[in-house]
Amino acid sequence: MDAQDMGSDLEKVLLSQEQIEDRLVQMAAEIDADYAGKDLLLVGVLRGAVMVMADLSRRLHLPVQMDWMAVSSYGSGTKSSGVVRILKDLDTDLHGRHVLIVEDIIDSGLTLSWLLSNLRSRGPASVEIAALLRKPEAAKVPVDVRYVGFDIPTEFVVGYGLDYAERYRNLPFVGTLAPHVYGG
Ligand code: 5GP
Ligand code: MG
Ligand code: MG
Repeated sequence: MDAQDMGSDLEKVLLSQEQIEDRLVQMAAEIDADYAGKDLLLVGVLRGAVMVMADLSRRLHLPVQMDWMAVSSYGSGTKSSGVVRILKDLDTDLHGRHVLIVEDIIDSGLTLSWLLSNLRSRGPASVEIAALLRKPEAAKVPVDVRYVGFDIPTEFVVGYGLDYAERYRNLPFVGTLAPHVYGG
């Protein structure tokens, strides 16, 4: 697929590259202030959080460590089921660590609430969440997300790490897809 094909698949740009960048700078400043003097471990959730992790972490002045987890909510469509499976676990021992989970998006919140209790059971000093995007649905689940980039409408979005059938992750912005893409 070339760039032009990708362009014709898009309906609209929801968040531009510049908007994302500006917001990440603000979030990084908050994180720098909140974790000053602490040893922070960033935990990225593969694969969607790759872009957020790369750009957010580079805006931090704090020295941090990074580790990655891959989880899968059963089901391959556009809805998450809440049944989570670990595909790749952390290599880092969380005992006594300050952990910040870095996520792309919270939709139902099911994946993150599962992840939060899983990581909290490993004896960390603290576990918080930073997510670039949050949908209104997330309000129904009591997941306390400390840092949120943008609240967006209930729409399926792609780009900036987010995929549809493993495509569109490399778009530098967040957008919605034209109906013909789903129509097949
Ligand atoms: P949740 O468990 O909060 O419903 O959703 C968890 C995962 O579903 C996210 O980490 C993401 O991988 C996927 N997801 C939820 N909403 C969207 C969306 O609008 N676009 C894409 N590409 N993935 C989404
Ligand atoms: Mg994710
Ligand atoms: Mg996906």
